Amino acid sequence: MTAESNLLTQSIPTPVTTTEPLLRSPKLWMPKRVVFTADALKEPFGQAMYERLSALHLPIDVAKNNRITGLRGADERETYRIAKNTLAVVNAPPGAFRLQPIPPSADWQMNLAEGCPAHCHYCYLAGSLSGPPVVRAYANLPKMLEHTATYEGTYPPNKTWQGQPAGLNGVARPTTFEVSCYTDVLGIEHLTGSLAECIRYFGTRENAQLRFVSKYGQVDSLLDLPHNGQTRARFSLNAESVARRLEGGTASVEARLQALRKLAMPRELGGGGYPVGIVLAPLMPIPDWRDQYSDLLDRIAAALDFPGSDTPDWLNVEFISHRFTPGSKDVLMQWYPNTSLEMDETTRAEKRNKFGGTKYVYLPAVMKEMKAFFYEEWQKRFPNAPVLYWT
Ligand code: SF4
Repeated sequence: MTAESNLLTQSIPTPVTTTEPLLRSPKLWMPKRVVFTADALKEPFGQAMYERLSALHLPIDVAKNNRITGLRGADERETYRIAKNTLAVVNAPPGAFRLQPIPPSADWQMNLAEGCPAHCHYCYLAGSLSGPPVVRAYANLPKMLEHTATYEGTYPPNKTWQGQPAGLNGVARPTTFEVSCYTDVLGIEHLTGSLAECIRYFGTRENAQLRFVSKYGQVDSLLDLPHNGQTRARFSLNAESVARRLEGGTASVEARLQALRKLAMPRELGGGGYPVGIVLAPLMPIPDWRDQYSDLLDRIAAALDFPGSDTPDWLNVEFISHRFTPGSKDVLMQWYPNTSLEMDETTRAEKRNKFGGTKYVYLPAVMKEMKAFFYEEWQKRFPNAPVLYWT
């Protein structure tokens, strides 16, 4: 059966809404193909996505049998190219309602989509998602959000989060939900509106908080949302040379810093007033790494310098060193055969997890040196902003 025979071909009206500014923006992902499953289109949120995508004049198909096909090419490279140019709008399967722990980032992960439009040569998704790397956005997101209420006040067993046990001095802390494990939520926001939906929802919850992280920069649509301080907006940043060489399709470091500034800026100054975070990842001991990362930390400090505001205590940081597994390396070498990313097992330390899996991290002496550097340089610039973890 061909892909085309799965698709309804009746003409679909295109709303007249103009979205020219979006269309002109060079760093916004515009898929070459959008396909809805028929069930996704029955969801009110799916219909809202449909309106939004139609307004962008994107070609939309509807798979009436709920199967998305036509994603495979002749080889892995072609499959990658087709999938990375496709946005599928589907309903999250029942398993997506059983939330999984995601330490140390948050208590639970809740995915609004799976698959990412960017092309990072070290991508964390390589080997962890099955099938072609298509972006699948969930049309039944509002139901998933409502379902998170059943997790409020629950914490993964035997885990603390960011050093805090579930209850502190007898008072339960808010349960945290990470929404960016399998996608870049800002990278698809102009197409889906899903992140705004999440922010609005968690803005109404007293005992639940949302966390997201992004390498994109279009945040204007988030500035006025009623987040009520319940969403922490984080940006993934790296040394300029790493970002330019290895983070294809993402916003520039400068654009991310400006987005961070807009979201963190107090509302009375015209910003979003969000709690924010920095995710420095994946950290690499590149040539001149101390100079390059010092420069980045200086730029972060400048981006968060607001008149009349001391060192921010509404900021925190996560440090993640580069690592890979045999499986992720295999996939990445198929996706990016000419990459300059160093993945030499002989220069790495091997770590085993409790399930017998292997990952390759930097040697202990390198890790120790980098960790000491980043803690010291961070605390010098941001004495009130906690380091959440180093890994
Ligand atoms: Fe992968 Fe994250 Fe880069 Fe997307 S932004 S390609 S998920 S590493």
